[in-house]
Amino acid sequence: MEQAKPLSWGPVTESSALSAVPSGARDAVLKFYFGPMDCGKSTLALQMNYNHGRQGRRGLMFTKHDRSGGPKITSRIGLGLEAIEVEDSLDLVRLVTAHDRIDYLICDEACFYTVEQIEQLADLVDEYGIDVYAFGLASDFRSVMFPAAQRLFELADEVCRLQVEVLCWCGRPGQLNARVVGGVLARTGEQVVIGDTDASPVRYQVLCRRHHRSGELGEGTPQPGSHQPL
Ligand SMILES: [Zn+2]
Repeated sequence: MEQAKPLSWGPVTESSALSAVPSGARDAVLKFYFGPMDCGKSTLALQMNYNHGRQGRRGLMFTKHDRSGGPKITSRIGLGLEAIEVEDSLDLVRLVTAHDRIDYLICDEACFYTVEQIEQLADLVDEYGIDVYAFGLASDFRSVMFPAAQRLFELADEVCRLQVEVLCWCGRPGQLNARVVGGVLARTGEQVVIGDTDASPVRYQVLCRRHHRSGELGEGTPQPGSHQPL
């Protein structure tokens, strides 16, 4: 004899009008972590990748203009991993969806991506359920926001300021990135100029707001090993 099937409910995995979201699912997130140079963004990016990877999640790492000069994410405390260099022409949706299964993206130096690429990251979150963790500077040497950083502020589910005790020469918290050309704080120029290399007269220094505005650079000498472009 055939048993009557209950009509009022089905297996718990079956969706209904009241369970449009599959059980166990959550919305993917777009998070933006920002702070000045030297505040540990790349170190956190690498730690984040490690934490997700050990949970069996599959991710991709992206960077642009990393201090190592190569397609890698490197931190000032000596960690480093291979990463994909985000050229202006790179279509992130096409690249990521060409992979079998990707759960999350680590996007270092996201302030240097194009605005269109930030839109692509939002698409990957919303259309493909991929978590995106973006890291970068908020503002350039003039204390003006990078277009990509601005778009991240507008679109991100969560924005976190990183403040890992980067200090101005005066001892106040360092918040802003200064470009120094020939010993003088620059107020105008291209938004992105690679500095702190042997061949470049340009260097970068983190200052508090007061001294960024006044242009006083202190008695200090430039930090060696600083290769962040702005
Ligand atoms: Zn200061």
